[in-house]
Amino acid sequence: MTPLLVGNWKMNVGPQRSVELASAFAKAAAAVKQSRVWIAPSYPALLPVVQAVRGSPIKVGAQNVAAQASGAYTGEVSVAMLKESGCSFALAGHSERRQHFAESDQLVAQRTLGALSQEFTVILCIGETLAEREQGHTVAVCTRQLEPVLAGLQPTQAPRLVLAYEPVWAIGTGKVASPSDIGETVGAIIDLWSSRTAIPCPPVLYGGSVDPDNFAAILKVPGVAGGLVGGASIHHEKFPALISIAERHA
Ligand code: PEP
Repeated sequence: MTPLLVGNWKMNVGPQRSVELASAFAKAAAAVKQSRVWIAPSYPALLPVVQAVRGSPIKVGAQNVAAQASGAYTGEVSVAMLKESGCSFALAGHSERRQHFAESDQLVAQRTLGALSQEFTVILCIGETLAEREQGHTVAVCTRQLEPVLAGLQPTQAPRLVLAYEPVWAIGTGKVASPSDIGETVGAIIDLWSSRTAIPCPPVLYGGSVDPDNFAAILKVPGVAGGLVGGASIHHEKFPALISIAERHA
């Protein structure tokens, strides 16, 4: 397995500091051979960060992407714009988009399928809230979030799709899901996928308070292909430590 480590910088870092972090991480990732390192800065930082990591194995992507190819969609950013900026992927359906901006399962699926159809790589985020977990609805929620994507996915597009299982209650809270909880839900996602389509299940990342103390154990969970990381991905020491852990795990 080639572990995939993805940093989501959220709305936390402006262009200047993004370039500083990206330059430091490019050095830390220079020798990476067995793993992949991707980062998702804010939109205004994309171009300078792409320049800062040039020549390193790090790939740069966006935190969201428009479903439409172009047109009168104020505030949205298209695949063509991201490609022109040197980006290689985008997140879709991050729980903060679902929670604070009311992005529905249908809208997230449109973004995902729209970007995939334009030959772009998408990391589709799914996961349950604490209330949903406590009611025993974890798998049902992940199923509901995946269904509209499964309904429109073409076999040729599937290799560009990555899934990220991110329990909402573990994001930015310091409460990491236990390896057995992660394994159970990731296993259920893989089973659900295979029961719905003959298309092979995409790699599934785990996200939610990943840090250098728990990442090695998370990577050992069967079915987990890597980590989607928020807080630790903008930390000068923690992200390089995560890069080393991913590289050693491969
Ligand atoms: C995230 O933003 O996707 C995330 C998992 O954040 P954190 O690592 O801070 O929990």
